[in-house]
Amino acid sequence: MVDIDTVISLAKQRGFIYPGSEIYGGLANAWDYGPLGAQLRFNIKRLWWQQVVEQRPDIVGLDGAILMNPKVWQASGHVDTFHDPMKECQACHRRYRANDLDTSNCPNCGGSLSAPRDFNLMFKTWIGPVADSTTPVYLRPETAQAMFVNFRNVLNTTRQRLPFGIAQIGKAFRNEITPGNYIFRTLEFEQMEIEYFVEPANWVEQFEQWAQWMEQWAQQLGLDIAALHRYEVPADERAHYSQRTIDFEFDFPFGRKELWGLAYRGDFDLRNHQIQSGEKLEYTDPMDPTKKFLPHIIEPTMGVDRTMLALLLSAYHTETVNGETRVVLRFTPQLAPYQVAVLPLARKPELAALTEPLYQQLSKRWRCDFDTTQSIGKRYRRQDEIGTPYCITIDFDSVIDHAVTIRQRDAMTQVRVPLNQVDQYVHDQITPTS
Ligand code: ATP
Repeated sequence: MVDIDTVISLAKQRGFIYPGSEIYGGLANAWDYGPLGAQLRFNIKRLWWQQVVEQRPDIVGLDGAILMNPKVWQASGHVDTFHDPMKECQACHRRYRANDLDTSNCPNCGGSLSAPRDFNLMFKTWIGPVADSTTPVYLRPETAQAMFVNFRNVLNTTRQRLPFGIAQIGKAFRNEITPGNYIFRTLEFEQMEIEYFVEPANWVEQFEQWAQWMEQWAQQLGLDIAALHRYEVPADERAHYSQRTIDFEFDFPFGRKELWGLAYRGDFDLRNHQIQSGEKLEYTDPMDPTKKFLPHIIEPTMGVDRTMLALLLSAYHTETVNGETRVVLRFTPQLAPYQVAVLPLARKPELAALTEPLYQQLSKRWRCDFDTTQSIGKRYRRQDEIGTPYCITIDFDSVIDHAVTIRQRDAMTQVRVPLNQVDQYVHDQITPTS
C-alpha cells in the first residue's frame, strides 16, 4: 500500500486536502477540504443518502442541530462515561491515550507516565455572552442522539412501523487526546449514521443484515476489500451503551484501525431518554395495541473522513507507461470528483466554437473539468492523478469530421466518437457500472 506521506502530498498538490488555516501556520490536526476533496466528500455522502434514505422505504432522513439540551448528554451517558483514559509524561508533559500506548514509558522522552486519568472527550461551550459554568452546552460527539430524541416525532409524522430507521449525516466533535494520522482522527469530523429500530427478538438477524450491507457498501465505494476486516469487539472494549459491536477495520498505512462501526445499542438510549425526560417513548404494536415496548436499536456508523482516506488509499495506483511512472486514482465514475474532462487541443477560436457547446451540454449531466493549459500529455497525467475516468479531446480534425477523441483513464484506450453522440457515449460507459 502507498505510504501516507505520498497521499498527503498528492492530496495537497491537487486540491483534495489542505492543512487547516495554513497561512497562519496551521492548526494541529485541522484540515480543509479543497475543491476536489469537497466534491469527493459530497459524492460519498450523496451516494450514501441515496442508498440509505431515498432508495429504502424503511428509512427516513433527519438533520438535527449540533447543539442540544445538555440533559441529552446526561441521559445518553456521555457526561459520565464518554472518557478515554489518559496518561501524562511526568517529564515532558505530553499526554497520551492509554489505549494507544504499547510501552510503559513516554514514547517521546522515555520519562515515566502518570496513572491513567479519565478525560471527557466532549467539547464544552456556553450559550450567551458569559462563560457561566452552570449552563454548559456541548458540541455533539455523535449525531445519534438527535435521532433518539426525535424518535416519537418521526413515528408520529411518518407512516413508519418497525423495523425502520432514521439516518443522518452531520458534523461531530471530540476533544481527542491524541488526534493524528492525517484525517483519521481529528477533533471535528463528519458521520453518516443510521439508527435502526427493531423488535427486541429480531436484533440478531437484523444485526447480521446490516453487517453484510456495510461490506457491500464498501465494495460499491471501491474500497480495497482485502484490506477490510470484521473485528468482534470484546465486552471490556465496547462503548458504554453497546451489547455487541463489530468494528470494520481497514489496513491503513499506520496500522489496522477502525473505519466504521456497527453497534447493538439495545434499548439503552430510548430507556434513558424516557426516564430523564419523563416522556413516553414506547412503541405500540399496530396489530396488538396492548403490546407496548421500547424498540431496540442497531447502529451502523460511518465516518466520512475515514471513508475518504480509505478511498484515496484504495484508489491510488502507480504504473509504468513508456518508461514513465503514471499515478492514477481509480475512483468509480460515481465518486470521481470529475467524471469527464473537456480538453481542446489548443486555444483557437475554431476549437472553442466546438468545445463550449459540448461543455455546456455535458456539464448538465456530468461533473466536467475544462482545461486548456499545457500539452495534452500533461493534461492527461493531471486528470489521471485526480481520477477523472474520461478525457475528451477536441482537435483540429474535429472541425472537419465533427468527432472527438475519448480516452479512458484505466485502459488508456482512445476512441473517436461523433460530437453529437458524446453525451450518449458517456452515459453508456458510466451508467452500467456506477
Ligand atoms: P476510535 O476507537 O477510533 O476512537 P470510536 O469507536 O470512538 O473510534 P465511534 O464512536 O464508533 O468511533 O464513531 C463512529 C465513526 O466515526 C467511526 O467508525 C469513525 O469512522 C468516525 N470517527 C470517530 N472518531 C473520529 C475522529 N476523531 N476523527 C474522524 N473520524 C472519527
